[in-house]
Amino acid sequence: MYPRAFDYLAPETKEEVLDVLAERGDEVKILAGGQSLIPMMKLRLASPGTLVDINRVPDLDSISIGNGHLTVQALVRHNDIVNSELVTTENAAMASAAPWISDPIVRNLGTLAGSVAHHDPEGDWASVMLACGAQVVAESRDGGERVIPITEFLTDMFTTSLQPTEMITEVRVPRYASRTTHEHAPPRGGGNYQKLERKVGDYATVGVATHLELGDDGGISKAGIALTSVYPHNLKVTEAEHLLVGSQPSDELFAEAAEIAKSACTPASDVRGSAEYKKDVVRVFTERGLAASLAGAQR
Ligand SMILES: Cc1cc2nc3c(=O)[nH]c(=O)nc-3n(C[C@H](O)[C@H](O)[C@H](O)COP(=O)(O)OP(=O)(O)OC[C@H]3O[C@@H](n4cnc5c(N)ncnc54)[C@H](O)[C@@H]3O)c2cc1C
Repeated sequence: MYPRAFDYLAPETKEEVLDVLAERGDEVKILAGGQSLIPMMKLRLASPGTLVDINRVPDLDSISIGNGHLTVQALVRHNDIVNSELVTTENAAMASAAPWISDPIVRNLGTLAGSVAHHDPEGDWASVMLACGAQVVAESRDGGERVIPITEFLTDMFTTSLQPTEMITEVRVPRYASRTTHEHAPPRGGGNYQKLERKVGDYATVGVATHLELGDDGGISKAGIALTSVYPHNLKVTEAEHLLVGSQPSDELFAEAAEIAKSACTPASDVRGSAEYKKDVVRVFTERGLAASLAGAQR
C-alpha cells in the first residue's frame, strides 16, 4: 500500500526542525532511520501530514562521554553502536544488545533515539535503557531542553511523554559509578542482553536486559532488569531490582530475582511459543544475564 500524501521537509539545522515542530505540531512526524515510521505509513497506521527529515542536521551523530554519562545523539545508528569502542568499554548491556537489533540493513539506518520514541514493546533498546536507568533529552523551540527519566518517558506501548513540539536530541546512559569517581578505575559494572528470536533479524520472542554495579564491599549497589516482548510494553522488573540492591551476589539470589521476573511478565501464546514457555525463557535469561553482568562487574 502507498502512504497517504504528505509534505516532506529536510531542514539543515536543528533550529529549523524545532520551528517546523512548533508551527505544525500534531501533524508532523520526525523521520530518522525510517525503519519503523515508513512501514507504519505504508500500512497507513500512521499518516502524518508532514515529515521532517532530520538526516541533514549536523552534529547529531556522535557517541561521547561526559558529566557522568555515555551520550548517544539522535542520529547514531544501531551499527554505530555495534562498532563503537566507547560503548564496548563503557556499557556492556548496550554492547551486548546492539548486534541483536534486526539485520544489517536496519542496523545501518535505524537509530536508538527512534527506537525509544517509537516504543514498540518488541523493541530491544527500550529494555536496555530501562535496565541502565537512561534519560531522554528533548528540545522544543519554546520550552528549551527537557531531561526525562526513561521510566517517565515510556508511558505505554507505542506511547511516550514526548510532546508533539519536541525532538529527541540525545539519550544519556549513566556511566558505571566507579568510572565517574576515578576515570581509569575498573568498571565494577556489567550488563547483558539475552534475546531469543525465531530467525536471524527477527524481533524478540523474549528479550532480557540486565545491569549490575558493585560497591566497595562487593555487594550490589545498583541493579536493572527489563523485559522485551513479554508484556504490553517493555517491562522494568522493579521488585527484582529491589531484591538485588544491598545484597551480596549469589546464584541463589539471582535465581530468586529470575523467579520474580518470570511472575511479572504476561506474554501471549502465539506462533513463537506458548506463554508458559516464554515465561520460563524469561527466568532462564534473567539468571544468565545477571551471572554475565556480575562477571563483567568483577573483571
Ligand atoms: C525488518 C525490520 C526488523 C526490525 N527488527 C528489530 C529488532 O529486532 N529489534 C528492534 O529493537 N527493532 C527492530 N526494528 C525497528 C528498528 O530498530 C527501527 O530502526 C527503530 O525502531 C526506529 O528507529 P528509526 O531511526 O528507524 O526511527 P523512524 O522510523 O525514523 O521513527 C520512528 C518513530 O520515532 C520518531 N522519532 C525518530 N527520531 C526521533 C527524534 N530524534 N525525536 C523525536 N521523535 C523521533 C518518529 O517520528 C517515529 O514516530 C526492525 C525494523 C524493521 C524494518
